[in-house]
Amino acid sequence: MKKLVVAMMAAILSMSLLTACGNTAGEAAPADTASEVETTTEDAATEEEVPAGEGEVSEDSSALADGVLNVGTNAEFPPFEYMNDNGEADGFDIALIRAIGEKLGVEVQVDNMEFASLVSSIGSKIDVAIAGMTVTDERKAAVDFSNSYYNAVQYVILPEGSDIATADDLKGKAIGVQLGTTGDFIAEEIEDATTSQYNKAVDAVNDLVNGRLDCVIIDKNPALVFESKFEGQVTAVDGAQFDFEAEEYAIAMPKGDTVLADKINTALQELIDDGTFDSLVSEYIEN
Ligand code: GLN
Repeated sequence: MKKLVVAMMAAILSMSLLTACGNTAGEAAPADTASEVETTTEDAATEEEVPAGEGEVSEDSSALADGVLNVGTNAEFPPFEYMNDNGEADGFDIALIRAIGEKLGVEVQVDNMEFASLVSSIGSKIDVAIAGMTVTDERKAAVDFSNSYYNAVQYVILPEGSDIATADDLKGKAIGVQLGTTGDFIAEEIEDATTSQYNKAVDAVNDLVNGRLDCVIIDKNPALVFESKFEGQVTAVDGAQFDFEAEEYAIAMPKGDTVLADKINTALQELIDDGTFDSLVSEYIEN
C-alpha cells in the first residue's frame, strides 16, 4: 500500500512537472550524442528556452540531451539495490534515482554491472552511478559526486559464536569483501589478513557460513539484511567497535558536468523537502 501511495505521488509529481516544463526531455539531441564520451559544460551551454519549473535548473546537460539518464548500479546490495522477484533492479537507490529522473523529465534506464566497473564506466557506458557508493578521495579523482544522501559505516559480519570483537582481533584473519568497495580497502590495510574479493556480497556471506572465512566486512544496511537472511548463523557488528570511519553515499557523475550536478542536487533537495526521500527510507530501509 505504502508503495502504491509513493508510486501515485511520483506519478502526479511527474505529470505536473511535465506540464510545467514539457520540453525538458523533448529537446532531444541527435542520437549520436548519446555515445559521446566527453561531457563538458560547453556542450551543456547549448540550451534552448526551457521554462523553468519550481527550483528547476533550465540548462540542458549533455548527459541528459537524449532524454535518457543511463544509470549504472550493482544490484547485489540490499536494501539499496537488488533484483526483485520480477528480475528488475529495485531498492532504495533505484527508487531514488527514478524519482530524480521524473523531476528532470528524463527516462531512467538502469544497467546492472559489477561494482568495480561503475566508476570507470561513467561518461561512456553510463551517465551516473547509484550503488550505495561511498564518497572517497580516490573516486573523486575520476568522478564528481552529488550531495551525499545517506550516512553509512562498514560492519563486520561474524559467524555465530565468533570471538572477534576488536580491531586487533581482525589481524591475520580470512576476510571476505565485495571487490573494489570501501570494505575491500579497509581489509587490505589489516595486518596479515587474507582478503577474498567477491563480486556478489551474498557469496561472501555463504563462504562465511561454510567456514571458509572468519568475517565479512560490508556496509551497515546490507550487513543487517544478511544478518536477518542468515538468522541464527551470523551476527552483524557495528564497525565503530573496530574503529572504522563514517562514510557517506552519493551519486557518482561525470567529472566537470556541473549542469548535471546542479540538476541532480536540486532534484535530490526537492525530494528531501517534499518528504519523498523519507518515505523511500521507511519503505526500503527502515521497515
Ligand atoms: N559503500 C561501499 C563502497 O562505496 C560499498 C558499495 C557497494 O558494494 N555497492 O565502496
